[in-house]
Amino acid sequence: MDRRHFMGTLAAAGAAAGAASALVARRARAAEQKPLGVALVGIGKLTQGQLLPALKKTSHCRLAALVSGHPEKARKVAAEHGLPEKNIYTYETFDRLADNPEVDIVYIVLPNAMHAEYTIRAARAGKHVYCEKPMAISPRECEEMIAACKKAKRQLGIAYRLHFEPHNLEVARIARERELGAVKVIDVAGCTMVGDPAQWRLDKKLSGGGSLVDIGIYALQAARYISGEEPTAVSARQTVTDRAKFKGIDETLLFSLSFPSGIVANGISSYAVFLNRFVVAAEGGRFGVDPALNYHGIRGFRSDNKPLAFPEIDQFATEMDDFAACVRAGKPTRVPGEEGLRDVRLIEALYQAAETGREVKVAP
Ligand code: NDP
Repeated sequence: MDRRHFMGTLAAAGAAAGAASALVARRARAAEQKPLGVALVGIGKLTQGQLLPALKKTSHCRLAALVSGHPEKARKVAAEHGLPEKNIYTYETFDRLADNPEVDIVYIVLPNAMHAEYTIRAARAGKHVYCEKPMAISPRECEEMIAACKKAKRQLGIAYRLHFEPHNLEVARIARERELGAVKVIDVAGCTMVGDPAQWRLDKKLSGGGSLVDIGIYALQAARYISGEEPTAVSARQTVTDRAKFKGIDETLLFSLSFPSGIVANGISSYAVFLNRFVVAAEGGRFGVDPALNYHGIRGFRSDNKPLAFPEIDQFATEMDDFAACVRAGKPTRVPGEEGLRDVRLIEALYQAAETGREVKVAP
């Protein structure tokens, strides 16, 4: 081969290699941009009212499967969302999710006592798991969930939507940066009312507790992310106004958390009233959110009258997108299983404190 021919062949080979690597890069980019498939487990109020509509607003997620004990409801919801029937599972066929490559993330939206079992089964099926709060009903279950996801090399995230809510994030920032001086007292309320006396929330076997595990957990969380510290001691006491409805679970729990720096948090968790607000008292003024944890209309305030206001976000779409982005990038989520475990340990300590009437020391 003469030199001219040789150079021509080399150029053609170079161009072919360039085109091939551009194709690989294009495919990789397309894979990066392809939304991750989410299987929603349990088609209850949260799934129907919030998660299904929110999924449509996400950039990195799409509905890929439904798991339900009620096939007729599942078929109807699937049809409404353009999901093929082959992607409907039951609790019995759940493990077959392993064979469905369209599903990347399994989102557990079941009664609290079922979170551990389905998280562990999802991890064994090779899926990343996003699990509703409370993570589970005992620290031991949480540890097993974390271990199962680690073993499967899959991410585990807990659906703490306020970790993505801008007003709450701003309150934590003001506290952290001591913009109004050092924080001294945090006053947190996480309360709601429960209607139907037959619902699983009032059945300790399925819920693991009363108002604290369900709604008060937001107040507990807020005290931790606002102080930026972990409590070293907790105390609590319970009151009940409706003994027929709240049997063996807390209707109202008043609690106090002591933090290493001396910050104290006072909290109320209740199923008896609608009330939710997080108020921070610092050396130089007060700030907070009221309401603090609603799906819509969260409002911030500062005693120096500077604005604490942000456009409303869809908290569910934002948290799902963030988890999917973390999964795709192999980056840890800001709401890992370990975060859920911390709260479940504190809840256990708070129930113990309420039962014994004594302060309970907790490992920070
Ligand atoms: P629902 O009772 O409305 O729905 C739970 C669903 O779980 C049911 O519809 C059912 O779905 C399935 N399920 C399976 N077994 C049972 C059982 N034995 N008893 C009752 N339901 C069962 O509850 P929510 O949607 O309100 O709550 C689900 C989870 O989401 C809870 O962990 C809760 O704490 C959390 N949550 C979080 C919120 C947030 O803001 N992050 C807000 C509300 C709830 P199917 O019929 O399809 O099988």
